Parts: sequence; C-alpha cells; structure tokens
Amino acid sequence: MQRLRVLAEQLDVVYQQISEQYSAYQRQRELFCRSGCGECCLHPGIEASVLEMLPLAIKLYDEGRAEQALDDIQQHQKAGCFLYQSFSEDGKQGQCGSYAHRPAVCRLFGAAGYTGREGQVELSVCKVIKADHPQALKDSLIALESDPPPMIRHGKELVRQVDYELGGRNLPVNDAIKQALEKVLFEGYYASMTEPEPVIPLADPLDYALPA
Ligand code: SF4
Repeated sequence: MQRLRVLAEQLDVVYQQISEQYSAYQRQRELFCRSGCGECCLHPGIEASVLEMLPLAIKLYDEGRAEQALDDIQQHQKAGCFLYQSFSEDGKQGQCGSYAHRPAVCRLFGAAGYTGREGQVELSVCKVIKADHPQALKDSLIALESDPPPMIRHGKELVRQVDYELGGRNLPVNDAIKQALEKVLFEGYYASMTEPEPVIPLADPLDYALPA
C-alpha cells in the first residue's frame, strides 16, 4: 500500500506540471473550453491507465468510500465517464465529479499537438472549441511552427514514467477507475495487517459525491 501512496504522490506532481503546461497553451492561443461543457466526458472512447486513477482510488480508500464507489461503478449504466455529473437533459452540460483527481487524458486534450503521418506537428482541437473559436484556431495553425503546442505523447510519457507496469496499458476510463479501486482495496486489506494506520483526511464535500 505504501508503494501505491508514493506513486500517487509522484503522479500528483506530474499532473500539476502537465495541467499547467497544457492549460497555458490553450489560454495563450485563446482556445478556451466552453463554460460548463461536458461533451468530452460523454465520449465513449476516453481511456486511462490504472496508474492514472490511483490518486482518486487512494483518496476514496482513506475516506472509507472505496467499496461504495466500487459498487457504484459496477452498477453504472450511463454513457461516458462514471465521474461525470451532468446538469442538462441532453447530458452535454456538466462537470467532473473529481476534477482534482482526473486522469492524464483529461488534462492533455482540448488543444494539444500530435505527430502526423509525415512526422509533422499537427494540432488536435476539440470540436466544440473549433466551433467557438474559429479565428483563434486559424491563428494557432498559422503559428504552429513558431509557437508549437505541447505534444500529447510527451504528457502521456511523463505519466507512464512514474510506473511503466501500472501506467503502460490504457483501458476504458471506467475500467481503469474500477481496477484502481480493486487494487487499492486489495493492497489496503493486507497493509491493514502489517502497516500502521494512515492519518485519514476529512472528506472534501465538493469532491466525488456518491450518488444517493
Ligand atoms: S475524469 Fe472528470 S474530466 Fe475526465 S472524463 Fe471523467 S468526468 Fe470528465
């Protein structure tokens, strides 16, 4: 369990670094996300590694909510990410239920770079941002060489470097959350017999509200 805690702490440092770097590019190029938009959280193709979900799983474990969260995710039937809290009928307006512990994928996308077929830098921009900021998109494409975007693969590699075993395989995001919870519960069970009890922080009421 101690090893998982160390990995989660290392990951928090990397998360901070990539969040600042990728958000700075979006801000600087004025490729802003639409306020309250949750379309990316509904996408069926969101993937994360078990490693990426460890900080959330450990937080829930320390608050005594990991088993409940595991039950909830096993019964989750809605489209998109388990953590997404939608506010509109069509589901497109909403927010992340655990923004501080979101995985790397949610920090890297929006507007970031990828390598095209010929090895050239291309700009990946979410379709909502494209529609909202056509001029900023045009300017960003013109400035691609002089002001290159941070590359998605660099961010992913920084995360993977924390632990290649747990970070090497991407899964659908809900499976990654589930497996991270199972891992933490499993290791926590054995640690409870051999390691001293951790200091349990107070639950943050704004972070991951279990469904009623
Ligand atoms: S972790 Fe949060 S930001 Fe990422 S897809 Fe899920 S709800 Fe959206």
